[in-house]
Amino acid sequence: MRSYRKEQVFQTPHRRDYINITPDVEKAIKESGIKEGLCLVNAMHITASVYINDNEQGLIHDYDKWLEKLAPHEPVSQYEHNGFEDNADAHMKRQVMGREVVVAITDGKLDFGPWEQIFYGEFDGRRKKRVLVKIIGE
Ligand code: ZN
Repeated sequence: MRSYRKEQVFQTPHRRDYINITPDVEKAIKESGIKEGLCLVNAMHITASVYINDNEQGLIHDYDKWLEKLAPHEPVSQYEHNGFEDNADAHMKRQVMGREVVVAITDGKLDFGPWEQIFYGEFDGRRKKRVLVKIIGE
């Protein structure tokens, strides 16, 4: 069995951003040379997510509105976590959207269902943050 590890750094311009990272993951799979196996992609920070869904702008806006309704950023004083930090809402948004995804690799490609794409969800951006890609297989 072979394994391949890669970190990808993101610095989003806004506090919240949603980036389709499928091309980055496909590139990592190509670099790994692995044709059959599993690919794990996870956010390495507790205020960001990696998730799979549709690459459709309306849906991405809907997610953002929904998350902001569930855990509004303002007023920051509503959260006990905030004091030195102001990112309690980002921790909660990450919890809802998840930490990681695992996708099968078949014949050197991501073995997706219809419309599936991998996204990086940032909830406390404007600073450098990392995503880990780990691939195992043959
Ligand atoms: Zn925090």
